[in-house]
Amino acid sequence: MTDTTESGHADASDADGATDADGATDAGDADDVTAAALADQVRDGELRLYELEDHADPDTAATARRRLVGGHQHSAFDGPETALSTTGEYAFPAADAETNIENMTGAVQIPAGVVGPVTVDGDALGGERYVPMATTEGALLASVNRGCSVLDRAGGATARVLQRGMTRAPVFRVADVAAAQALVAWVEDHERRLREAAESTTSHGELDGVTPYVVGNNVFLRFTYDTKDAMGMNMATIATEAACDVIETETDASLVALSGNLCSDKKPAAVNAVEGRGRTVAADATIPAEVVEAVLDTTPAAVAEVNTRKNHVGSAKAGSLGFNAHVANTVAAIFLATGQDAAQVVEGSNAITTAEVVDGDLYVSLTIASLEVGTVGGGTKLPTQAEGLDVLGVRGGGDPAGSNADALAEATAVAALAGELSLLSALASRNLSGAHADLGR
Ligand code: NAP
Repeated sequence: MTDTTESGHADASDADGATDADGATDAGDADDVTAAALADQVRDGELRLYELEDHADPDTAATARRRLVGGHQHSAFDGPETALSTTGEYAFPAADAETNIENMTGAVQIPAGVVGPVTVDGDALGGERYVPMATTEGALLASVNRGCSVLDRAGGATARVLQRGMTRAPVFRVADVAAAQALVAWVEDHERRLREAAESTTSHGELDGVTPYVVGNNVFLRFTYDTKDAMGMNMATIATEAACDVIETETDASLVALSGNLCSDKKPAAVNAVEGRGRTVAADATIPAEVVEAVLDTTPAAVAEVNTRKNHVGSAKAGSLGFNAHVANTVAAIFLATGQDAAQVVEGSNAITTAEVVDGDLYVSLTIASLEVGTVGGGTKLPTQAEGLDVLGVRGGGDPAGSNADALAEATAVAALAGELSLLSALASRNLSGAHADLGR
């Protein structure tokens, strides 16, 4: 099958040995016929959209879906060449994405690039590094790159992972508040038993603790795990389920939901901003005043003022959980480039930027309270995302376990700090230009 327009995947078919020595595409043609027939069957209600993989290989199933929805989108559709052909040009066997998506039609391509180099002084990452980012927002990489070059002129940025812990918080129903108190006491007395049950489901995950929260006859137990190089949401969920089985067997509590929203996953929540989730990571640097003035066209005092009035006072007035300028921009672009769970940008924006004048120079820091990153599992194994991890040298499990995810967290914090520095300076320099104009200078 060399007809990538319709097959969407020459490599996969080559691996199957489907392409003839002379490049003929018998298997590809056969797949096209199969895909067309399958699309018709779904259209006629004989098959459901999600049943296609039961009747064809994953690439052919994806082709059938493109024919189906391509036909719906274009009334003049009369052939495979218009069936979402670019969406069908993906560079991995659809079978490799079976744990990442259902009802696959193909892949969306997002422009990818790098920023840097920037010198990182971290516990898990050191030296000059390029950082991968993927986005459709023009000017983002230029801005972060400018910040990286300023950090580099200042000797680089320091980064540290301050805390690790992926959480899952099931909610239990109990009779009343007295029973709630009794359950909390039982959990405290039996934490070792719960740890054994939870850790029996994983060879890497470790239960660090269980924090109870009571609301009337609801008991929430926030389980916190060190999930090493995995972002850990599946790992923590599976482990917590095993612990919940023990609680239900040995107490009168009834599990209502394995996730009681106090975890808190993919929703803006103060608990993550205060207690942390995933990794709490911080980065900082001191930029000499002459670099601020020469490269950023502003002053340390002006940057510090913008940061206070905008990121602190403005964010407080807005009731924001993010006391920063645009950390989500950098986090999202790195997440996309390295196969992280994009919805967790919500937690990744729980970040506080500080800026102050110290001995005439500019001290800047960024602390991200709940950065959920991994270098194994989820989307990290998809080929382009794994190559994104390669840019930082953190693909797969680290040695020791957890060090690759730590390194990714440190790189993300430094790049996001660069983004903060660049945007704050742009705002400060604009203010300064305005002030200069007002003063006629
Ligand atoms: P996962 O792929 O489910 O689990 C990680 C796997 O990697 C485990 O099988 C683990 O083995 C193995 N592993 C190998 N080397 C490791 C190392 N060095 N460190 C840690 N683990 C290592 O991934 P996950 O991070 O737990 O979950 C991520 C996925 O969860 C994403 O696809 C995300 O979209 C999804 N997600 C799920 C939920 C949910 O509620 N279930 C919520 C949000 C997101 P052992 O376990 O045997 O150690």
